[in-house]
Amino acid sequence: MIRARSLGREGRKRRTSEKGGFERRPAPMLRIGIHTSIASSLASAAEKAAALGCNTFQIFSASPRMWRGSKLDPAEVRLFREAREKHDLFPLVIHDNYLINLPSADPVVRERSIEAFRAEMQRAMALGAEYLVAHPGSYRGQTPEQAIQVFAGSLAAAARGLRCDGLSVLIENTAGGGCALGSEPAELLELRRLASERVDFPIGFCIDTAHCFAAGLDFFAVLQAVGLEAVQVIHCNDSRSGFGSRLDRHEHIGKGGIGLEGFRRILSDRRLRRKAFILETPVEKPGDDRRNVRVLKALAKTR
Ligand SMILES: [Zn+2]
Ligand SMILES: [Zn+2]
Repeated sequence: MIRARSLGREGRKRRTSEKGGFERRPAPMLRIGIHTSIASSLASAAEKAAALGCNTFQIFSASPRMWRGSKLDPAEVRLFREAREKHDLFPLVIHDNYLINLPSADPVVRERSIEAFRAEMQRAMALGAEYLVAHPGSYRGQTPEQAIQVFAGSLAAAARGLRCDGLSVLIENTAGGGCALGSEPAELLELRRLASERVDFPIGFCIDTAHCFAAGLDFFAVLQAVGLEAVQVIHCNDSRSGFGSRLDRHEHIGKGGIGLEGFRRILSDRRLRRKAFILETPVEKPGDDRRNVRVLKALAKTR
């Protein structure tokens, strides 16, 4: 019986290939997702992403505004992993806590940041995340060059002794307001280069469209400068603030300075097919999340 079935399958395959002339490999599936909340449970964040029509998503693995994250409950983690599997949500992106400032000149803040980032890495691995997105932090009280060195040292301290199978840390570009490190490609490259010398897991980039715009930089020029292959995740946000304003204000796709045409160019670029596109757009009225996912998917179809 099993044999007959497998022969049948072979037969079908042969017929289609005779008909089509040659077997074509399917185009890789574009990965479009959104940041969802874990407020009710981890699994519900995955279910929400799937219900919105996503095939990838981003979460905070604990409260983003508290130093100490609560312990992950193994039963919850299992449900979360099952939901991801069931809905083919790949990759999983975790965004780090907003309080973390790895290059801080203040030793107390730096120690807390190292401890919190270590916990981020541990939770990311427990959840089976592929990517942990990290903000480079603030260079206040130092030169940017010094801060980049401190960032690398802090990251190494956070990761000491951890085995990071399957996890990459992605450094996110910033809008460059105040003393924010990492708006310029040169800084991003240096952050990655120095950090990579100190750790044994991959370090890549997450490039945010709104941050490029606010920093007064062309998104494609940034990609080119940091190296396309090092960019794994693209944060898709339109910008409520002006070009070069250095203000980080996310807007609904098509409603900001980047506009629908700008996003069409991004979503239809063949070189970006294997990247994960993640929305971090505001949810101001019910359905905003669904609308933004729908717009991105529609733009991707016009490739
Ligand atoms: Zn972002
Ligand atoms: Zn932002």
